[in-house]
Amino acid sequence: MATVIHADRLIDGTGAAPIGAAVLVIEAGKIADVFEGKLPEGRVPPGTETIDLTGCTLLPGMIDTHVHLNLPGDGSTLEVCARETDGVLVATTAFSAARALEAGITTVRDVGGARRTVFDARRALELGHGHGARILACGQPITITGGHTWYFGGEADGEDGLRLKVREMIKLGAEFIKVMASGGGTVGTMSWLPSYSPRELAALVDEAHRHGRKITAHCLCAQSTDWVVDAGFDGIEHGGFIVNKAGAQQYVPATADKVARAGIPVTSTLAVGGFTLKAMRAIEHRNPVEQATLDRWLRMFDENITQFRKMREAGVTWVAGTDAGWRFTTIEGLPLEFELMQQGGCTALEAITAGTGLAARVLGIEDQVGTLKKGMIADVIAVAGNPLDDLARMGDIRLVMQGGQIRKRVA
Ligand SMILES: [Zn+2]
Repeated sequence: MATVIHADRLIDGTGAAPIGAAVLVIEAGKIADVFEGKLPEGRVPPGTETIDLTGCTLLPGMIDTHVHLNLPGDGSTLEVCARETDGVLVATTAFSAARALEAGITTVRDVGGARRTVFDARRALELGHGHGARILACGQPITITGGHTWYFGGEADGEDGLRLKVREMIKLGAEFIKVMASGGGTVGTMSWLPSYSPRELAALVDEAHRHGRKITAHCLCAQSTDWVVDAGFDGIEHGGFIVNKAGAQQYVPATADKVARAGIPVTSTLAVGGFTLKAMRAIEHRNPVEQATLDRWLRMFDENITQFRKMREAGVTWVAGTDAGWRFTTIEGLPLEFELMQQGGCTALEAITAGTGLAARVLGIEDQVGTLKKGMIADVIAVAGNPLDDLARMGDIRLVMQGGQIRKRVA
């Protein structure tokens, strides 16, 4: 059975300019054709379902390359969430995937959860027990003993221990490997220092690649980024320049140049700051801790945007990811990420591409989703108006289609 969708315009996710008066033909769950103007006579059989979305823009389903489905994004710290049982975390994961889909995010890359909880939730969705965003999972983020997110069960050290951990994650069903190459925003870890040695990082890359898996690293300080590039990682998360315990940052041009030359994509995660500021500003009478959080994030947020801009100008490829679940970052946050990327110098089209076609390429699924090209899986969304004029439109979802099935329709 075929479906034909008419809309004011279509952005195909490749970075190409939009086409006007778009007609999209979907057959057997795949994109069959894209036309500008009129559907050719006799192209589809009589009785084909026609959806008229006048006033809307068609786009590929969005892809968030950095989420934590285990976490609710309601302000809770990781330390608190990690106390819940695996059963609760599986339920939260399924709920987060469903919320993402409702928001037009048809694919997510989960960059770390507890034990096997993300795999279990993904399995339930595969069995058809509910609907949710497609999930690419790494399982537990691999971290040094006592390192960032160790509560998830991903502690491993030394070359042999790391190779074993990579194999364990692949056995559980990991499509890619995630490594905490520096400390992070969890109690007792040091975001301003690298965590693994260069030899350990090289062993991780060798083991992941030998099994045909991509490997990406959380890096909040320049030295961790330098070492990760040297080790041959496929991706970098955050790409921060933290230099001390207070979270102060110091941009290192040589590190940015190195990432740019290596062509390694970096996940933006600007929404973390955006959502934290929103939450702290919403509190009328802030206690001293809340005030300190606001002050710290005001400074960090500006630094993050400035660094984003400088790295982009140095030739670094930014891919859209929100860090959804982390503290105040909601699973529906990709439109805010796009707006912040624009604030950091991207055009609106560049930001949308970073969360569709480019995101699919970085995840290695560009032959399935991310663009509205003939033969691709029909993950399609419609938003009201023209998002190229106002990226906030990406949050005004009128249609969500996944694999040719309509999951949401707003009249
Ligand atoms: Zn994260």
